[in-house]
Amino acid sequence: MSKLPLDRILQSQGFGTRKWCRELIEDGEVLVAGDSITDYRHAFETDNLEFSVYGESWRFREHVYIALNKPADYECSRKPSHHPGVLSLLPEQFALRDVQPVGRLDHDTTGLLLMSDDGAFIHAQSSPKRHIPKVYVATTHDPVTPQLVRQLMSGVKLHDEPAPLAAVVCNMLDTCQLKIVLEQGKYHQVKRMLAAAGNHCTALRRTEIGKLRLEALGLAEGEWCYLGEAELALLS
Ligand code: URA
Repeated sequence: MSKLPLDRILQSQGFGTRKWCRELIEDGEVLVAGDSITDYRHAFETDNLEFSVYGESWRFREHVYIALNKPADYECSRKPSHHPGVLSLLPEQFALRDVQPVGRLDHDTTGLLLMSDDGAFIHAQSSPKRHIPKVYVATTHDPVTPQLVRQLMSGVKLHDEPAPLAAVVCNMLDTCQLKIVLEQGKYHQVKRMLAAAGNHCTALRRTEIGKLRLEALGLAEGEWCYLGEAELALLS
């Protein structure tokens, strides 16, 4: 439980500098429980605090945990160079509170991307020691063969990796489509594994992380949602 003055609350939630937040409050743009609060020193209990800024409703969150259905042609890097960054798909408050992608998807990869401003969560989710399975649906240039599936399951050697990398699950879904489950997150791993096995990935979609399924979140491409406790529990 903590009680904070309204300007600090707004700043912590990514609404701008302390000075800017004070101006917002003094201009009567901030309502708490339906009342306009114009004294920025007015302190509130942050737990479950609901407020509105410019008529839009928000709830105080110490950290945010987000799932995005990433469309193609968005970059996960902090300084995108050729395409817009994934942060541009979220409200601008999230960039100001330092929300970042948890790991990366290539600019042309679509699907489930986690984002957060909780450094410990990002670190834990990205740790190779945790072996969190990630499910991808890859479309291939050449038809999937039993031999390709066997190769991906037994492991393929990538030039900068000391040991062969293997899928933990690999199933043919269609003539040119397979499901591949990985427990590592090496650079371009699916594409490079398919190339090393003699095929070529023409489209890639991440559909699950741990037991969290993108489909269950009901997000259209480009949409995002907060993850609650129940969904976070599925991520291990
Ligand atoms: N593997 C890839 O090749 N690309 C991604 O974006 C994710 C996994």
